[in-house]
Amino acid sequence: MRLLLMGPPGAGKGTQAVAIAERFGIPAISTGDIFRANVAQQSPLGRTAQQYMDAGEYVPDEVTNAMVAGRLSDPDCADGFLLDGYPRTLQQVDELDAILERGDTALDAVVLVEADPGELVRRLMLRAEAQGRVDDTDEVIRRRLEVYAAETAPLAAQYAERGLLATVDGLGPVDVVAERILSALVAKSSAGS
Ligand code: ADP
Repeated sequence: MRLLLMGPPGAGKGTQAVAIAERFGIPAISTGDIFRANVAQQSPLGRTAQQYMDAGEYVPDEVTNAMVAGRLSDPDCADGFLLDGYPRTLQQVDELDAILERGDTALDAVVLVEADPGELVRRLMLRAEAQGRVDDTDEVIRRRLEVYAAETAPLAAQYAERGLLATVDGLGPVDVVAERILSALVAKSSAGS
């Protein structure tokens, strides 16, 4: 299984990514988590990423692409993976296509988790209280939602054109959303093959 999980900030991608990846026995790769781990260690990559993340902007494509290419070449990704939060730009789509082509593989499905913008802001503000993520402030949340709408939302149409997209409502309890995603994937695989 080679899967992508897309969705706006606050849609619950991270939680769902872990559950779905576990179900299929594949690694869940969150670019946001990898960047945060690097920021915590103050590695060179972390120092580069931090300024962008703190402002709610995307880390530059060449930095993100190199990191993902490296991660996907690890042995645990040989039989499948779930990418959470990548690709987010057209250039990242191109890079992922190139990586997959080099490995003579292809994506099986792209899951888009949707939620209404008011609910997204509410969830992110709650998370800000609980986890203290530095990019969960009012102003930065607004910016992240804007950047998502401008740069990432258009990618869904591309994957829909390729027949890969499954759209799922992200509203509701975590296990209910997880079931929706799994049913969407089952429907997709029986329709596609
Ligand atoms: P969210 O989806 O809630 O914004 P993430 O943890 O997925 O949270 O990402 C946090 C931040 O990490 C993003 O705002 C961005 O700065 C950076 N980031 C993550 N993935 C990418 C990516 N594919 N391209 C560029 N920047 C990224």
